[in-house]
Amino acid sequence: MKKKNENTVNIRGWIYRTRSSGNIVFVIIRDATGILQATIKKGNLSDKDFEDAKKALVESSIELEGCVKEDKRAPGGYELQVTRFKVIQFAEPFPIVEDQSPEFLLDQRHLWIRSQKLTSVLKVRSTVVGAIHNFFRERGYFEFDAPILQPNQCEGGSTLFKVKYYDKITYLAQTWQLYAEAAVFSLEKIYNMGPTFRAEKSKTSRHLSEFWMAEMEAAWMDLHDVIEVAKEEVKFILNDVIKNNIYDLNILGQDIKKLKYIANSNFPNITYTKAIEILNEKENMQVEWGKDLRTIEENKLMNHFDTPVVITNYPKEIMAFYKPKDPKNPKTALCFDMIAPKGYGEIVGGSQRSDDIQYMKKRLKETGESIENYNWYFDLRKYGSVPHSGYGLGVERLVSWICNLENIKDAIPFPRTMLRFRP
Ligand code: ATP
Ligand code: MG
Repeated sequence: MKKKNENTVNIRGWIYRTRSSGNIVFVIIRDATGILQATIKKGNLSDKDFEDAKKALVESSIELEGCVKEDKRAPGGYELQVTRFKVIQFAEPFPIVEDQSPEFLLDQRHLWIRSQKLTSVLKVRSTVVGAIHNFFRERGYFEFDAPILQPNQCEGGSTLFKVKYYDKITYLAQTWQLYAEAAVFSLEKIYNMGPTFRAEKSKTSRHLSEFWMAEMEAAWMDLHDVIEVAKEEVKFILNDVIKNNIYDLNILGQDIKKLKYIANSNFPNITYTKAIEILNEKENMQVEWGKDLRTIEENKLMNHFDTPVVITNYPKEIMAFYKPKDPKNPKTALCFDMIAPKGYGEIVGGSQRSDDIQYMKKRLKETGESIENYNWYFDLRKYGSVPHSGYGLGVERLVSWICNLENIKDAIPFPRTMLRFRP
């Protein structure tokens, strides 16, 4: 909105709603800042402008001139009394109307992205991404980029996306981690946010095939150091969203008091073994020690907490090859997951990194990997290795939780899943 003089303003945007009766047209105009009701009365503007206002359909792009008046009945409390109505482009009938199926809306994603809901989600997402950069930069971390095309796996071969690389085969990044580990021996504290690819075969409301992961890696830090960084990071992001996106959180139906409470709470740590105890004793489940926690177990566990929880020391056997055993409890690994409240599942996963080359080789061989692809990684343990740790935060998982979304697909503009890679 541009102010022309004390009384007159110019507004450019799109028609969000329109209805007319006789000599009056009510248009709700939207732009990136929100919506405003405009009242177009015959006689207040040229006849051609009035006829155009009557004719213009939803999503037409327009430029209006008029006076803003307080009006308690109007959405937002103000309305524009229009003196000029210029149509930039008359829209064709918009294919999206009320009550259409989620699949239809996904087919129309290029248009649905204009909806109030997605606009608010994308604004929150922008705050989240900005906060992540600020958090690490304020604390002296360097931004470090890893390759997207990688010859090796890190999180299990079954979710790799194969890419034809000239006449050879390579893979899309499942994480930046292995390359980050190479860089901590010079930069010490690093972070990154990058596209991440996993061919997830299960159709859940938490898994995308392409998502953005914010990762950190630091020399000299052990498991408990990075757990503290992760907690601080999540709270930093929450506070930034609360500061900048109250309007959006209201549109999304988020309980802002609750978010504020969480941003000021201590997130508890429990061990995997304790989590199993809670499930078996308080939830009447029969979870065997050694099995990974699935969605159902994570959700039941969260009945007992109203803030995110950090679970440490998962069984070593079910963990990735680079997670070291805990010397105090050698059946478990020095690793953690942070689980969000209300069924939003794991938002952060991390660990200390192993320096036991023989153990890592054995684990990789068991999963059918060619050790030659990892020799460069083992070099990192030979030339001045130091304890180091890191974690990855799923940007869309966090956005889903903060925005109160039902499905992770709405946390990214153009979702890719097992069943969808269009538009
Ligand atoms: P899950 O058990 O939920 O599949 P994971 O253990 O495979 O997660 P990590 O490898 O630890 O996840 O990845 C770090 C973070 O990246 C996770 O905590 C999560 O927030 C996010 N993440 C992992 N896989 C996906 C996915 N397919 N879609 C969206 N986010 C994901
Ligand atoms: Mg996974």
